[in-house]
Amino acid sequence: MIPTDNNKTDLRAAFSLVRQRFEQSLPARASAMQALLQADETTAPALNQLISEAHKLAGACGTFGFGLLGSQAKMLEQLARTIQEKPASEQRYALLSLQSAVQDFLQSVQEALRNSSDASTVALLQPRPENSIWLLLETPALIAELDTQLRAFGHQVLIFNSYDSCLEALSQQAPAVLFTTIALQNGQSLFKQKLLLDRLNQQQSRLMLYSDQDNFDLRVKAAQHSADAFFVSPVDVPNMIATISELLEQTFGQHGRVFIVDDDKLLAEHYALVLKAAGIETRILQQVTQLVHEILSFQPDLVLMDIYMPDYSGTELAGVLRQYQSLKRLPIVYLSSEANKLLQMKAMAQGADDFLTKPISDNELVQAVKARLRRSQQIRLLIEKDGLTSLIKHSAIKEAAALELERATRFDKPLSIVMLDIDYFKSVNDQYGHATGDIVITALATLLRKRIRKTDKAGRYGGEEFMLVLPDCNSLQARQLTENILQSFRQLQFSAGNSAFSCSFSAGVASTSDSSYAHADELIAAADTALYQAKQAGRNRVY
Ligand code: GH3
Ligand code: MG
Ligand code: MG
Repeated sequence: MIPTDNNKTDLRAAFSLVRQRFEQSLPARASAMQALLQADETTAPALNQLISEAHKLAGACGTFGFGLLGSQAKMLEQLARTIQEKPASEQRYALLSLQSAVQDFLQSVQEALRNSSDASTVALLQPRPENSIWLLLETPALIAELDTQLRAFGHQVLIFNSYDSCLEALSQQAPAVLFTTIALQNGQSLFKQKLLLDRLNQQQSRLMLYSDQDNFDLRVKAAQHSADAFFVSPVDVPNMIATISELLEQTFGQHGRVFIVDDDKLLAEHYALVLKAAGIETRILQQVTQLVHEILSFQPDLVLMDIYMPDYSGTELAGVLRQYQSLKRLPIVYLSSEANKLLQMKAMAQGADDFLTKPISDNELVQAVKARLRRSQQIRLLIEKDGLTSLIKHSAIKEAAALELERATRFDKPLSIVMLDIDYFKSVNDQYGHATGDIVITALATLLRKRIRKTDKAGRYGGEEFMLVLPDCNSLQARQLTENILQSFRQLQFSAGNSAFSCSFSAGVASTSDSSYAHADELIAAADTALYQAKQAGRNRVY
């Protein structure tokens, strides 16, 4: 969920609170380390405990803005480890230097707290409607065409004519996507608008570029600013709209869910808040023995795993997760202050996918997690989704129909299935070419995806044939929805060479609200029959 103004204030307060709690805990934690060394004889368990505490502080201090304390804690940890390895006879003297180092640390803590200011480093997001597209273009004809088409797909469109006005608007709101020209007629270049580009990046708006020219230098500049697409004039509108839909789906469709395992509760809470501010859902492990249960119920896309924890190590926990068939592919990313590359490699070899080193800045954490979430989502897409339309494939949509029929029967809710088939599609291919035919298929797929609810499913059943699975929807509602989609589809203008054309489809609806079906195949067959009748009756209609 994207923070709105209200929960933005809540988030800010939550950040402050976690930080305060961390600050308040610092003097006691430093004194506790001191106490461990004060006994006449420093025992091995006490030294171990000190190492563990220094290690935790080394990982956490930087995150809360106390980088210097973090490095000092890291030194304490290393010093203590060296002492641990010495023979007992040599430890006594070395312990004196550890004592004074801990004493220094305590003083640094007090000094740091005197100078501390609660400047949260997290840039909180502006409100950002999921379907808001900003256009910053100068060609009136193109603006008009994009505006109409984007609205037909249910997007909110705002139009700007200067970089300055766009920057000003960014102080109030951010777009999901900015589609902008890279050069204005007055000579201004987008790549010189540092403030604008930084702000977009901070707000995680996606950037799509439009250019009259195409050359390597421009492409490199676009890549430097992480542009998601580069369109050269004349722009292929259906392709552009499909790209926008894909971007929005990546950004909003699945925010991604991250499960956090860290014995430092405050640090875990801080990570959770940082990720939440970036629109990622999180859950923190409550009880380590319930790890598998908690993960199965939360269904994360990724696990962030601390390595050194008092009861079980991160590598042990990763090993446990890998014993479960359904968790074998779950990406695990270690997040640890272990800086030794060799130990990192060893940890990775034990079932994890990546390694992030603490302390990590909030921004780095968000970027790293997002990149890994995107990659694992991409892999899933490749497996389940049709390449041309990104809709789920034939077998997956049939499975969805079977599952939903089971649910509908159990909870006594209606379920409708719609079969759609583009009219006279063969002649589109024949007249305008296969590539243009593909654009029409993509456009219908995009439209279907836009118009259905999150719980509905759209699949590509065959070449130019699609299937919708609509839970909790009776035949009347299904027909109404399909009629609306048909109207929008008819309005889409496709261009091929110098000619423009539009298409229609026929559709058949079958619903458990009309008769009862024991098996999903029967429901699908009924929708197919209705589709056939719609074709017979003259096409361009819903039956
Ligand atoms: P009707 O109104 O009866 O549905 O007529 P139609 O021409 O649409 O029906 P038909 O099923 O005879 O033709 C479907 C055509 O769709 C045939 C096939 O070549 C084409 N087709 C199937 N998959 C694709 C694809 O992925 N891309 C393109 N461009 N064409 C495809
Ligand atoms: Mg057809
Ligand atoms: Mg067909």
